Amino acid sequence: MISDQDPIVAIATAAGRGGIGVVRVSARQPLDGLIQALLGRALVPRHAHYLPFRDADGGIIDEGIALSFPAPHSYTGEHVLELQGHGGPVVLRRLLARCLQAGMEMGMRLAEPGEFTRRAFLNDRMDLAQAEAVADLIDASSEAAARSAAASMTGVFSAEVNGLADRIVHLRMLVEATLDFPEEEIEFLEKYQARETLAAIQADLARLLSQARQGAILREGLHVVLAGQPNVGKSSLLNALAGFDAAIVTPIAGTTRDKVVQQIDIDGVPLHVVDTAGLRETEDTVERIGIERTWAEIGKADVIVHLLDATRPGPELDAAITSRLPPRTPVLEVVNKIDLVEDGQIGQAQAAGAKRLPVSARTGQGLDALKRELLAIAGWNPSAESPYLARERHIHALLTAANHLELAAGHAAQSDRVLDLFAEELRLAHEALTSITGEFSSDDLLGVIFSRFCIGK
Ligand code: GDP
Ligand code: ZN
Repeated sequence: MISDQDPIVAIATAAGRGGIGVVRVSARQPLDGLIQALLGRALVPRHAHYLPFRDADGGIIDEGIALSFPAPHSYTGEHVLELQGHGGPVVLRRLLARCLQAGMEMGMRLAEPGEFTRRAFLNDRMDLAQAEAVADLIDASSEAAARSAAASMTGVFSAEVNGLADRIVHLRMLVEATLDFPEEEIEFLEKYQARETLAAIQADLARLLSQARQGAILREGLHVVLAGQPNVGKSSLLNALAGFDAAIVTPIAGTTRDKVVQQIDIDGVPLHVVDTAGLRETEDTVERIGIERTWAEIGKADVIVHLLDATRPGPELDAAITSRLPPRTPVLEVVNKIDLVEDGQIGQAQAAGAKRLPVSARTGQGLDALKRELLAIAGWNPSAESPYLARERHIHALLTAANHLELAAGHAAQSDRVLDLFAEELRLAHEALTSITGEFSSDDLLGVIFSRFCIGK
């Protein structure tokens, strides 16, 4: 187990070459001695000093800017020193080695991934949801994702969560005060409009949950699986969506034997589209393995596109595929190759009642509608309030809180005395919410969260 007491150092900028590279030191104890040893002079706090960085023998490693941030006014809340030099891998490694050497007496060691941010959390510079957003901002793969990560990082999401938690605590305090005076219990609910207050909290929690779900879509992306009989045009559709040839297209059925994944971006939402082996009865062992994998992919999908061929209805096989699709995953039925049929003929392939989207992977007809429909069926709502780049963990906690509030509402609706149960459900809802910002988080959870960061952050 690493110690949160050690002075740490790391290269804080990305690996590889760049105009600027930063080496960062953080320590509980003041860094004056280290600064003197490294730079041969003292630094004015938070002032940029242009200096040579020298090795132990006085040879110049680089020239750059040194910045000192004494505790607590720093990223980590500890004493921080930043050396900004040129961004070459060799020069930065030399600078790092020099810091380790100069800090040896202090017990300086290399930082673990996410350790700077972990310290910022431990020193109350940010809460857990904010710390997670730092990593999400760095990892953001689209502009929309970066925007919502930034909102979470600056504490907008945390403030909403804390606001709800405070309202729950307030209601709970009222109930618990009443519990000591049994004769007043019955009037309590009316007197303090407890049911109405609870309903308002539930409504706001539901809104926050929906914003968090939008954010989860931005963060994780949507897993879309293209499934259907061989030769209906799955690979062609993937290529048309991606805008270049990612999958092999041939007129021979059974060509795509393994999966091909393509990342595409629709309105800032990342989609991972999986092209699969066509689903049919087959004797070919290799192809059969591909088909088994297809079913595995289908099981993991957020959205399934069941592709049909307008020229070749084959309704029995498609009905067989439909019957095996997981019941809870949204399915979009798409009819391809409409460039080959007369208007209206597509109707032949249509099962009664099912909504089907006509497209042509060849001409691009219907692709825009398909993209819009993909987002809509996955629950993406572009007009919703700004999403928060929430994680599975946050959504789970929000859902848990919502369930306990639901149970509390159930107790409040009963006429006999259930106020202690009402209070207990409020307590559990509150506990779930505070787990988001990390008020009561275990070391294990912290370890899992921060180990996924990059080094130097
Ligand atoms: P997959 O087996 O489902 O992946 O099907 P492919 O994408 O390999 O396509 C099978 C054949 O159908 C190829 O010859 C494609 O060129 C053709 N094809 C695919 N989509 C269309 C389309 O929209 N219109 C026409 N005319 N041909 C298509
Ligand atoms: Zn294919």
